[in-house]
Amino acid sequence: MVDEHILIVEDEIKIADLLSDYLLKAGFKVSCLARGDEAVEQVKNMAPALILLDLMLPGMDGITVCREVRRFSNVPIIMVTARVEEMDRLIGLEIGADDYICKPFSPREVVARVRAVLRRARPVETPRRLIAGPITLDEYTRQVTIDEKALSLTPSEFGLLNVLIASPERVFSRSELLDKVQGYQFEGYDRTIDSHIKNLRRKIADILPGKECILTIYGVGYKLSM
Ligand code: CA
Repeated sequence: MVDEHILIVEDEIKIADLLSDYLLKAGFKVSCLARGDEAVEQVKNMAPALILLDLMLPGMDGITVCREVRRFSNVPIIMVTARVEEMDRLIGLEIGADDYICKPFSPREVVARVRAVLRRARPVETPRRLIAGPITLDEYTRQVTIDEKALSLTPSEFGLLNVLIASPERVFSRSELLDKVQGYQFEGYDRTIDSHIKNLRRKIADILPGKECILTIYGVGYKLSM
């Protein structure tokens, strides 16, 4: 999901900047705070989608911040610590954090963890039957038909079509599609989406020759239009 707001609470400016850069590039909105005692109030104001919370902070330590936030909010929290031993202790304390990351970390790993925690936090949706023109996609049976002819799709192609058909006419960026379809475990390049789209188009064209339903929006991404 693009535009989700991540709050970074970190007093080391270099680390905060690095995380902020990576999360912005991954399509998130980002705010940074350097003090623990400001964090609790700001969580109420900003209502972030997720908090990256450093353990050692001026004003109020991360454990207390986490506990205070949990009094009024279920926002996902990832605790960041400088020591592995500290991480074990934190987990034992059951302070209500959703995940733990130990420094030094790769920003790429942090982005992956953020995505994973956000994904887990989303409510599970009941499978739907989605229809756009002659195309029917059944999330329950994972079958796609066009004019009642079955389409044989790979899991990635199915995932892509699923995202597109759920919001016809909405333009999705490549990174958005990559995130939704493949998830963090398969984090690849945006261009891998292009090859999946190409295959998907070819399979659709086998049944609907001459009908272009997945449109390229130049400089942005793709949309489904019937
Ligand atoms: Ca710190």
